[in-house]
Amino acid sequence: MSEGKDMKKDILGRQIKELSNDAWWGIPRQQIPWYPEVDYESCIGCGLCIVTCGRSVYDWDLEKNKPIVARPYNCLVGCSTCSNLCPKDAISFPSLGKLRKWRDKAEAIRKASEKIKEAKNSVK
Ligand code: SF4
Ligand code: SF4
Repeated sequence: MSEGKDMKKDILGRQIKELSNDAWWGIPRQQIPWYPEVDYESCIGCGLCIVTCGRSVYDWDLEKNKPIVARPYNCLVGCSTCSNLCPKDAISFPSLGKLRKWRDKAEAIRKASEKIKEAKNSVK
């Protein structure tokens, strides 16, 4: 694997973020296995996934010319942009059913509603 000389920057020269210890609606991020998996047989190495992702989930393998899921828990829970854009459908995620179970376990709907109420009260 080749990642370039400066380990703090990715192949595009962007600062690498560390987001994997952030909580998601109060649940430790690393307890939620939402992250991309790449089918390397299908992947054509176009780079759209790493270029599109703004959360440092991917590194790039210069020798194989393929993405590496280097920081899976940096992935934003519920995001699937890279998968949606991949020209070869080479990126997969857990099912929406699982995502919604995590949403309900985290009581994200109630918490979001409370945030909106608070925001509305603060502008009254
Ligand atoms: S967008 Fe898809 S085909 Fe392109 S590099 Fe990423 S995984 Fe491979
Ligand atoms: S789903 Fe979103 S945050 Fe996660 S790796 Fe893809 S583009 Fe990045």
